[in-house]
Amino acid sequence: MLKNRRSRLIPFFEENGLDAILCTDMNNIRYLSGFTGSEAALLLARERSWFLCDSRYTEQAREEVVCDEVVECGAARLDAIADITRVQNLCRLGFEASHLTVAIYRRMVEKLPGITLVELGSELDGIRTAKDSAEIEQLAAVAVLSSHAFRAITHLITPGVMELDIAMALELEMRRRGADGKAFDFIVASGERGAMPHGRASEKLIQAGDMITIDFGASKNGYHSDETVTVACGEPGERAREIYAIVKEAHDRAIAAVKPGISCRELDLVARSYIGESGYGDYFGHGLGHGVGLEIHEQPTLSPRSSAPLLEGSVITIEPGIYLPGFGGVRIEDTVVVTADGCRLLTQVAKKLHVL
Ligand code: ZN
Ligand code: ZN
Repeated sequence: MLKNRRSRLIPFFEENGLDAILCTDMNNIRYLSGFTGSEAALLLARERSWFLCDSRYTEQAREEVVCDEVVECGAARLDAIADITRVQNLCRLGFEASHLTVAIYRRMVEKLPGITLVELGSELDGIRTAKDSAEIEQLAAVAVLSSHAFRAITHLITPGVMELDIAMALELEMRRRGADGKAFDFIVASGERGAMPHGRASEKLIQAGDMITIDFGASKNGYHSDETVTVACGEPGERAREIYAIVKEAHDRAIAAVKPGISCRELDLVARSYIGESGYGDYFGHGLGHGVGLEIHEQPTLSPRSSAPLLEGSVITIEPGIYLPGFGGVRIEDTVVVTADGCRLLTQVAKKLHVL
């Protein structure tokens, strides 16, 4: 499996004439080596690999990591890399420019004289876009766990309950069901606060008649889930129902249009044009969705600016919304895996207007 993943680096080697790639981003290191710790570096030459860590992780690395050599080097990591490049005659070294501070880059220039450092941009993270079967299994499991946890706490959504209490109950329920933690700070935005697409749970009390946008996800074994359910606390008004129906239709149309090869921009447009035709185009400001995996937001980005084609195996969210200042908002989000002829839902809460 890791061999397959590492083969996705071949175009980077070839296009840039590289002798080796230095990975410093922990998600890419996990993906390419199996390491689950929080600090290390991975040096990959075409035929050989070195995993560099300090003494906290040497034993763990020997158990988890697939590579030719585990090098314990503490703070002298760049010296160890300099030694390896000299002995192995590695002259052109690609590095993850979008995951490095300027300070570390300067130290690399100083410690690796004579080595040509080649910037690799965020496109390197794109090796993780199409998930393999082991990843899809993890993503499906965490999505199911998270949806079930949500269903188990919906009875708490009643007038007088604080948004923060709902967020805390949901997090606790996820942990009870085996999650390692929450994937992000949950959004619980009720009533007028629903107009804020990223309205994190606050001390506001839920009121009868509020629409409540709840955006939640769990993390487990490094993988994340992402789902948004908008519920009504008591009978919603006519406008709230109208907005819900438009967002639901945009969501359904986008999900029906998911297939390999469609461009991210085209897919975004399916939902955006429907919301526009319905008269709410000015109130859907964000992109239609994003990739989910070792990061909660990763490639691809579904937005009017992204021309990349959707890949089979990608796990993406579909999350149109309408946000009306002074009134409130509706977002409906599912996470799906792109299959050969469409997509399969990973998140499980039925997307209809739940009136609680
Ligand atoms: Zn979300
Ligand atoms: Zn999302």
